[in-house]
Amino acid sequence: MEPGKEVRVRIAPSPTGDPHVGTAYIALFNYAFARQHGGTFILRIEDTDRTRSTLESEQAILRALRWLGLAWDEGPDVGGPHGPYRQSERAEIYRAKADELLARGEAYRCFCPPARLEKLRELARLNKGPGGYDRHCRDLPPAEVQAHVDAGEPSVIRLKMPTAGETVVNDLLRGEVRFDNTQIDDQVLLKSDGFPTYHLANVVDDHLMEVSHVIRAEEWITSTPKHVALYRAFGWEEPVWVHMPLLRNADKSKISKRKNPVSLDFYRDAGFLPEALLNFLGTMGWSLAGDREKFTLAEMIESFTWDRISLGGPVFDLTKLTDLNGQYIRDLAPSELVTRLRAWRLGDDFLGRLIPFAQARIKKLDEFVPLTDFFFSGDLDYAPVAKDLVPKGRTAADTVAAIAAYVEAVDEPQGGQPRAEFKPEALEAAGRTLCEKLGWKPKELFMALRVAVAARTAAPPLFDTMAVLGREVTRRRLRQAADFLRKQP
Ligand code: GLU
Repeated sequence: MEPGKEVRVRIAPSPTGDPHVGTAYIALFNYAFARQHGGTFILRIEDTDRTRSTLESEQAILRALRWLGLAWDEGPDVGGPHGPYRQSERAEIYRAKADELLARGEAYRCFCPPARLEKLRELARLNKGPGGYDRHCRDLPPAEVQAHVDAGEPSVIRLKMPTAGETVVNDLLRGEVRFDNTQIDDQVLLKSDGFPTYHLANVVDDHLMEVSHVIRAEEWITSTPKHVALYRAFGWEEPVWVHMPLLRNADKSKISKRKNPVSLDFYRDAGFLPEALLNFLGTMGWSLAGDREKFTLAEMIESFTWDRISLGGPVFDLTKLTDLNGQYIRDLAPSELVTRLRAWRLGDDFLGRLIPFAQARIKKLDEFVPLTDFFFSGDLDYAPVAKDLVPKGRTAADTVAAIAAYVEAVDEPQGGQPRAEFKPEALEAAGRTLCEKLGWKPKELFMALRVAVAARTAAPPLFDTMAVLGREVTRRRLRQAADFLRKQP
């Protein structure tokens, strides 16, 4: 980067699911770097995957980042000089840029039908050779291209990747990372429906939004040579590349919700303080001089340097985070702790949602807390209700499978469908459909689910209970109950 150039950084989440801790982690480092340099922090929504992107997910991401206190200077909600900040609203820009590459001879129209591409992949699989496109349309004579266009044949636009040599990614943390160009496909830039791929939209936006540093997770580094090739094809200056180490589970695999809660909403609902979570994320891959583990965001901004990043994958250790959170709780003024408890679940809003359950069931106010305590507790103890968790005549293994299938049905529907809202009707419908599939009576499954979410057999209506507990706590409890059963002798 030229000296004196303004620091402009961004996060570019795809709104296809829960607000992820990985997004917050990358946002934090972008934010700290921008603030340290008096620069600009941009939030861009990468919603080019039209089947998987939802507005619900976008809103959840914005809400979670606001909860953490990572305020952006430009974004879909606050606007800015380089908007719109939602890629679905920028389709025209990408089309024009793809045409520009065609005109410069840096890209070409590819008319190969999907069946041909599938055959190529199949052949590559059989020969165990490199997969990818054989560049069949790269050098079609212009007259032939025109004939295809005139015939109204669908086409995609592909980049002409260099066919020899290396593409070097200069990463601030890793130095030169080299990629053999023969291993890189002529990537699709614009799909046949006229919508861009991630690569085109990402590069065009980073350029037009004048992003100076691309600070993102390591998993994108294999895309970076394609991005470098695009910058060259356009004749644009590259940003500074920074690929941060990935967050990992305790077993060092990439962080995943099967082994760690990954949704920021889980951390909010489970009673973590945003400043503690930010501090914890700040210790992932980075350290303050003297290796002090507790520091404020202001301290991080003040002393942040890239040379204290370590590339060995940081482990997201929930016990460590919980201990740190405890330190933050002890540091709060007592009245502030009351405020935090109210904002969490002891405020009018959440208590109000419990009243429909409680009003008809209590005779004295002091019965309210014992009746509703499981709405406020973290992980539950299933030992005292172990026998109720498994319906009579069913095995523990079948129950584990049924609970897991239920989590999947409400949380990760198959076929790339957006998932249903976490509402009682949808939750019940998913349960009934699953019962038909498994040949279980609804009564059986619903009891197992009830015990899993409440650790008791008599509880308020099951699906209302789940909706009030929320997706995160419900998911966590269902998983924990299944884990408990798995460990039973
Ligand atoms: N849309 C990508 C994501 O979901 C953006 C990656 C990048 O920062 O370039 O993370």
